Amino acid sequence: MSSRNQEHGRTALASSQDLSARFEQEFGGAPDGIWQAPGRVNLIGEHTDYNEGFVLPFAIDRTARVAVAARRDATVRLLSTYGDQGVVTTTLDALQPGTAKGWTKYPLGVLWALRERGIAVPGVDLLLDSNVPLGAGLSSSHAIECAVITALNDITGAGLEAQEMVLATQRAENAFVGAPTGIMDQSASLRGSKGHAVFLDCRDQTASLVPFETEPAGLVLLVIDTKVSHSHADGGYASRRASCELGAEVLGVRALRDVEVADLAEAGALLDEVTFRRVRHVVTENDRVLQTVELLGGPGPAAIGPLLDASHASMRDDFEISCPELDLAVDASRANGAIGARMTGGGFGGAAIALTPADSEQKVRDAVAKAFAEAGFKAPEIFTVSPAAGAMRIA
Ligand code: ADP
Ligand code: MG
Repeated sequence: MSSRNQEHGRTALASSQDLSARFEQEFGGAPDGIWQAPGRVNLIGEHTDYNEGFVLPFAIDRTARVAVAARRDATVRLLSTYGDQGVVTTTLDALQPGTAKGWTKYPLGVLWALRERGIAVPGVDLLLDSNVPLGAGLSSSHAIECAVITALNDITGAGLEAQEMVLATQRAENAFVGAPTGIMDQSASLRGSKGHAVFLDCRDQTASLVPFETEPAGLVLLVIDTKVSHSHADGGYASRRASCELGAEVLGVRALRDVEVADLAEAGALLDEVTFRRVRHVVTENDRVLQTVELLGGPGPAAIGPLLDASHASMRDDFEISCPELDLAVDASRANGAIGARMTGGGFGGAAIALTPADSEQKVRDAVAKAFAEAGFKAPEIFTVSPAAGAMRIA
């Protein structure tokens, strides 16, 4: 088992037997079990979460697995099959926010958050194996956290409900890792279900499953990782949030969630031009999520293409968070048979998704690769994902 997930196309995970064997070899005993949790793709609903709106992510068939054994002492030993970083050893009592380095901050953050919740966490030996591509916007980090919390919930007998695990991993991210993230990624990973997307209301944090199956509809969902991350991503995110807050304040609502599409004409008279376009993105995007949920419950995924396209146009023109690589990925996909495509994630780089008839998959792949080469862009990484099961114990 080597650093295979550097290439997104190589997807094999170690079998349970191989993972157990490696665990024994490294830690000198068998694991108590093996747990897994997937990465996620957001189908639609971008920059709506912090406006108390709607998002529609789904768990994907790329997953993080952890083999874990409880120890009798407070020692924690961590090893990933990715890279060659070797075993990292620490103790439960050493866990302090902001101190952990590299990938270990994710499992350690979960241990810390569970202890903060008053759960008696034992020391553990833990071996991670994941085929969620790192840094491609598929939430490889939350996949780790969700696999670890699912394992620890079982091992400790804490009996946490999915929503309690969602909040504990959010606390791990916010307070221990130091990333100001919401609840979308871990909700998809922990609550996801094969053949479904997870419809989340970010105001009351309720979640429900919506049927989303690509294969029976003769479709594939392509992820086009542009491999670019533009340097203004952080500043761009902060300024978009600020615009949304300003818009809500001027319009006299608690959050942009409270503005309807029908209110936009009136809002235009009250807001400066840029703030208005930012607001319009959020308001119409919330509406697109609701429409997508409705269509998935009726005619199915073949009907949602125009909503994906409209979402992209809104992010490109109104929210201004796209970039030439994402626009090209979307345009080339659409021009070669995709029925809908949009950038996904926070923007300024990262990945696009293209919902594509299975018989056009190769054409879209080739066309996107060719268009990127002709534009002088870095070669994108293109792969399919399908809606898969959420976190679970597998051995
Ligand atoms: P994303 O979550 O979108 O993939 P992040 O930057 O949040 O991107 O998380 C990526 C980080 O997660 C990596 O830098 C690494 O620290 C950690 N990580 C993900 N998968 C693994 C793995 N298999 N082994 C070790 N670390 C991993
Ligand atoms: Mg992440």
